[in-house]
Amino acid sequence: MSATQRALPALNDLNRFFWTGGGDGQLRFLHCPHCEVFVHPPAPLCPHCLGAQLQPRTVIGQGRIEALTVNHQAWTPGQAVPEAIAIISLDDQPGLQMTSNIVGCDPQDAYIGQRVKVVFEAHEDIYLPLFSPV
Ligand SMILES: [Zn+2]
Repeated sequence: MSATQRALPALNDLNRFFWTGGGDGQLRFLHCPHCEVFVHPPAPLCPHCLGAQLQPRTVIGQGRIEALTVNHQAWTPGQAVPEAIAIISLDDQPGLQMTSNIVGCDPQDAYIGQRVKVVFEAHEDIYLPLFSPV
């Protein structure tokens, strides 16, 4: 999608499904079948029932910008700035949030309350879930 250099996550058995899910275009979160809730970030146990039956489940991947900041400081060589960093509230469940970058618009044009959808940026086997205006 772009040549932007980004810090990439270290994959492990707990988070691999999350960072590689974009390979088939799906954003997934762990889901507890007992409580019927999504759990994010990935954890070994459900925080509600302490059940260990969490399984990845696809979410719609749309939501709204809950909080937003624009970073102008390049912390690593090649980092593209300015960049919009946002907390996104996902439609799938009240309180289900993730932090990501807003792409597909001028970072200065992103705003709190803006409707966004997930897009994936591939870096070899890692697919970073970013969000773009709907
Ligand atoms: Zn549970």
